[in-house]
Amino acid sequence: MKVDTGFLDALKLGGEFDARLCINCGTCTALCPLGLEILPRRLFRHALLGDRERVLGETDAIFSCLLCRLCEANCPAGVHIAENVRALRAVLNQGVQGLAEA
Ligand code: SF4
Ligand code: SF4
Repeated sequence: MKVDTGFLDALKLGGEFDARLCINCGTCTALCPLGLEILPRRLFRHALLGDRERVLGETDAIFSCLLCRLCEANCPAGVHIAENVRALRAVLNQGVQGLAEA
């Protein structure tokens, strides 16, 4: 895994990103109507670790999320899941690919 320390900084600029609160309980995965297995817990972990490649590899899932907040409403840790997904989208839309290729 190639760690990109600038990736998390870029995410924070893109909006609220409080994925550190996640306790990896799996509630979000169980409740997601789309069955987005990657979202949010695994994807957030990749982002927090600076694993840009794995996050970029899940672009389809990031943009598939309905932002319905069913996961968020039941998250025991109070993670702002939808806002985190929005932050990921913002970074992808701003071309983090270019940032990371530098
Ligand atoms: S429900 Fe909340 S605490 Fe549990 S895995 Fe999902 S984001 Fe993390
Ligand atoms: S907000 Fe996204 S990840 Fe959460 S339950 Fe809805 S579709 Fe799934």
